[in-house]
Amino acid sequence: MILPGGTIGILGGGQLGRMLAQAAQTMGYRVHVYEPQADCPAGAVANREFNAPYTDIAALSEFARSCDVITYEFENIPAGPLQEIERLTQLYPHWSVLEICQNRRREKAWLRENGFPHVNFANVDEQGDLAAAIHGIGLPCVVKTADFGYDGKGQHKVTNAAGIADAVKQFSGQRAVIEQFVTFQCELSVVVARSANGQTKTFPVSENIHTNHILDFSIVPARVEAEILSQADSLGRAIAERIGVVGLLAIELFLTSDGVLLVNELAPRPHNSGHYTLDACRTSQFEQHIRAVCGLPLGDVTLDAPVVMTNILGNAWFAKSDGSPVIPNWALLLQEPATKLHLYGKKEARLGRKMGHFSIRAENADLALALAKVLQANL
Ligand code: AMP
Repeated sequence: MILPGGTIGILGGGQLGRMLAQAAQTMGYRVHVYEPQADCPAGAVANREFNAPYTDIAALSEFARSCDVITYEFENIPAGPLQEIERLTQLYPHWSVLEICQNRRREKAWLRENGFPHVNFANVDEQGDLAAAIHGIGLPCVVKTADFGYDGKGQHKVTNAAGIADAVKQFSGQRAVIEQFVTFQCELSVVVARSANGQTKTFPVSENIHTNHILDFSIVPARVEAEILSQADSLGRAIAERIGVVGLLAIELFLTSDGVLLVNELAPRPHNSGHYTLDACRTSQFEQHIRAVCGLPLGDVTLDAPVVMTNILGNAWFAKSDGSPVIPNWALLLQEPATKLHLYGKKEARLGRKMGHFSIRAENADLALALAKVLQANL
């Protein structure tokens, strides 16, 4: 057990690392952050920041020796160097969990081998016949790069013959995964925490609305039947146990138009759709992750009120009319009493870049969503 006063190392310096660091510090831990880029959001709040590539074993070893436990907030860290530092300091979640989740092919193969419901898919190698594989899955489908894809990056929806030709051009020489296009009622996610002694707790299921493949709103409680919530909870718990995660595991799900839950993606870290927990649950996902990796008892996941979390993208820094630079209307947001603003301290706003989020609590999820949409439109 790593008690408050100990040092937690976080690989990755983005907003997830920043909010993890803040939660850890609230509980009396010291936090060291390792991130290739200087001036990162987590580095700004860390007790110590290391800036070096993820493949620099000497720098990683120095970082590891300075920490009592290491975790990560970023999925695209090569698993090889993690195996090296695991010899020096406890690493949670285990590198093998990251290795499965960071690659769509391994992730899907793992889901299939372990009997968890997933989207029908086919793999194509660098020199493989993409067009034949697309015909095998059928149209419409989505072609995705196998490695390092997120927020819809490296994705291409194919609906017709011209789309197949485009996909062949775009993905030639790359390893890809072809997925059947799922017609869904909604997207859901569940964040599960599991500690080293096997205790698990699942946060309330979130309903997620994406715009341009990027999460826009998370709505909690999700507006689906209680039976679906219970299935999502059980599925999340079963996956966390089977994969043996210590820390958080986020599970993204499709609820198909036929009422079936399918796993889309797994992430062994805090998740954007779990940010609502900061303002609406007794324990936030960040605190829960710290508790889990330190071997402490897991916290209460009770939801105090219906809530909607809205992402604030860099787009809010550019006028909708002509794209000229503007300052978002923070006063409008903050004068609404049920609203909480979280900004990540990123210096440069870019279109599509996650700069912060806000949450709104209300009597029910529909009301919170209606208010969130008004505030977002007027930001
Ligand atoms: P991903 O990066 O795989 O999480 O995809 C980002 C978003 O694209 C998802 O949250 C869905 O909204 C959409 N998407 C991805 N894969 C599919 C699919 N096979 N069928 C339908 N929509 C998808």
